[in-house]
Amino acid sequence: MSQLRLNPLTDRWVTVAVDRASRSDLFAPRRLPVESSDHPCPFCPGNEEDTPPALETYARDGRWLVRVVPNLYPAFEGRGAFSVAHLGPLFAQAPGTGIHEVLVFSPHHRSSWADLDDKQVGLTMAAIRDRMEDHARQSSVRYTQTIVNHGREAGASREHPHGQLLGIPFVPEELVAESRGFDGFMHRHGECLLCTTARIETEEGHRVVHADERVLVLCPFWSAAPYEMLVIPRAHEGHMAGAHPADLVAVGRAVRDALAKLGALIGDVPYNLVLHTAPHHGEGLFHWHLHVLPRLTSVAGFEAGTGVLINIVAPEAAAADLREASPPPPAGDAPASAAVE
Ligand SMILES: [Zn+2]
Ligand SMILES: [Zn+2]
Ligand SMILES: [Zn+2]
Repeated sequence: MSQLRLNPLTDRWVTVAVDRASRSDLFAPRRLPVESSDHPCPFCPGNEEDTPPALETYARDGRWLVRVVPNLYPAFEGRGAFSVAHLGPLFAQAPGTGIHEVLVFSPHHRSSWADLDDKQVGLTMAAIRDRMEDHARQSSVRYTQTIVNHGREAGASREHPHGQLLGIPFVPEELVAESRGFDGFMHRHGECLLCTTARIETEEGHRVVHADERVLVLCPFWSAAPYEMLVIPRAHEGHMAGAHPADLVAVGRAVRDALAKLGALIGDVPYNLVLHTAPHHGEGLFHWHLHVLPRLTSVAGFEAGTGVLINIVAPEAAAADLREASPPPPAGDAPASAAVE
């Protein structure tokens, strides 16, 4: 099992996942593994035996379209509560309990979120929601982080399109910081920060990448990286599991279209998708959203030393570029609520 250790300089938890280090190829190649007949892709149809049994399968006409499987090398595992042991004044540690799952969101090896048709987007968002609801039932899981890493530089270890859900036994500092942002804005202005952002940025227009009646995609005023995007569902909802099915689909499609625009503009760039949602059982103010973080530059010494990021592309220019980018049209064309059941 992995171990959580508290850094008392910053009050941030670090996960030491020692089991993963047994994989000797972890650091050697800076590229994705090459699949062959000897080393077939475990996420491709026909190789289901190469993963642990699926937790959920979403199928049509006898073929699966989305699968959720336990991670073979879990960073968080087991049902124990978050129990911190203080070994003297310096060493605070806790067992790394929780859930670590892989979401295979397409049966097609050479594809990505940017290529999903409407039906596939709907099933993927439904799968994330269903897993969130399942995680919430486990009382020791306080928060679930859903991510997609695309490309080696963004942390992907396999080419086959997949995401991960990590149910962890504490609310991480990034979420605590955002919750503080919501609370502070409400205290000063009497409104939800992201509801206000969606309204004012729609009026201003020049940082908007995509806007419709359900969702807004923008390059935020405070973008810390080139072509960073924020995806905001317009309906106020703290936890994504509580969102209307049509809003889930709209957000999934908006992410797809935003990634397609990014691809049309710059090519197949590495990126992280980060879904932020309220902690499970949390009472505080939150508004779920997604960050699209292209990894076009690397974090250098100043950024590492200060936490102050230097962005070399103004978000207003990035939004103008993305608005004008014209990817090929998406494949499917289903009605908004059809795909989430
Ligand atoms: Zn594959
Ligand atoms: Zn709101
Ligand atoms: Zn966020």
